[in-house]
Amino acid sequence: MAYVEVQSGEIGDGKVGMVMVCRWCHKEITLIVTQEGYDAWNQGRGVFVQVAFPELTPAERELMISGTCGQCWNDIMGPEPD
Ligand SMILES: [Zn+2]
Repeated sequence: MAYVEVQSGEIGDGKVGMVMVCRWCHKEITLIVTQEGYDAWNQGRGVFVQVAFPELTPAERELMISGTCGQCWNDIMGPEPD
């Protein structure tokens, strides 16, 4: 289900680095998340990303959900109004 995830690995201190690739621009973006959140999400228990990864920004969560990075999201959807 995490089709955009190309690799992940422990980086220590209870954190995991997840390398995600944007499906549009193919840029690699590393997201640092908690091991706890990663496990909950990766085990496919239906944990929502906003619950598993409250530390991520909305753009980073979008990358996990749809494989679209923040820049491409803006390009597709238009910039968010201030
Ligand atoms: Zn992109």
